[in-house]
Amino acid sequence: MLLNVENLKAEVAEDGKQILKGLNLQVNPGEVHAIMGPNGAGKSTFSSVLAGREDYEVTEGSVDFDGEDLLEMDAEERARKGLFLAFQYPVEIPGVSNKLFMQTALNAIREEKGLPALDMFDFDEYVQEKMELMGMRKDMLERSVNVGFSGGEKKRNDIFQMALLEPKLCIMDETDSGLDIDALKVVANGVNSLRDPNRSFIVVTHYQRLLDYIKPDFVHVLYDGKIVKSGGFELVHELEDQGYDSIIQSHEAQL
Ligand code: ADP
Ligand code: MG
Ligand code: MG
Repeated sequence: MLLNVENLKAEVAEDGKQILKGLNLQVNPGEVHAIMGPNGAGKSTFSSVLAGREDYEVTEGSVDFDGEDLLEMDAEERARKGLFLAFQYPVEIPGVSNKLFMQTALNAIREEKGLPALDMFDFDEYVQEKMELMGMRKDMLERSVNVGFSGGEKKRNDIFQMALLEPKLCIMDETDSGLDIDALKVVANGVNSLRDPNRSFIVVTHYQRLLDYIKPDFVHVLYDGKIVKSGGFELVHELEDQGYDSIIQSHEAQL
């Protein structure tokens, strides 16, 4: 198993408000999991906790990632170990070129794997190959990280970073962003082309259309800080037809 989340409870560090209330999730290598759920359910909080953002405090439960205790690692260490977070609003870093940013990130991961760092020439060659694969425009590499990128360009850049860093687990939180159809396709094509028996995805979204393109292996409904229903791809259309109400009602009836 690549990721094993057991009874995860977490609260907002600032005010102690509990958001995750005993979340369980298992992800095997090569699997694509979608997490859906109503607004405010805790989806972005879950992504943030996995990424190691410090706004949240884990109070109970465990997260095992590739045989190690994820919760013991800081955010950089998680990234070096093969966890990739694509966020809804990626940070802008004025003055730092996308290229230098990616070279630094890639070399940190290579060091973790015991591989030698790529110098500029080797990195150029490596990048060239990935850019062609992902249909990236060359000038996006020279620009400051995410500065002035359109929504679609940010998505393309996210996917490009994934292709470059070859993570074991990609977590994508697409929840509240207004993705147009082109950006949806960039994300979906990116995920599909990077699917691999050694790579897993957790795609957080309320875009049923995105999932139509991606066809996840498993679909989970997150509600009130827990996963309350899991199924296969068919669950996407069940949710589309019936909404979350019946799932929420049967969950509450069980309490
Ligand atoms: P979702 O992504 O499913 O819409 P979120 O994880 O963003 O849900 O939020 C879940 C709940 O936690 C919401 O009620 C939200 O207001 C609250 N919350 C999340 N982050 C914070 C924070 N940093 N400070 C205060 N409340 C927060
Ligand atoms: Mg939300
Ligand atoms: Mg969210």
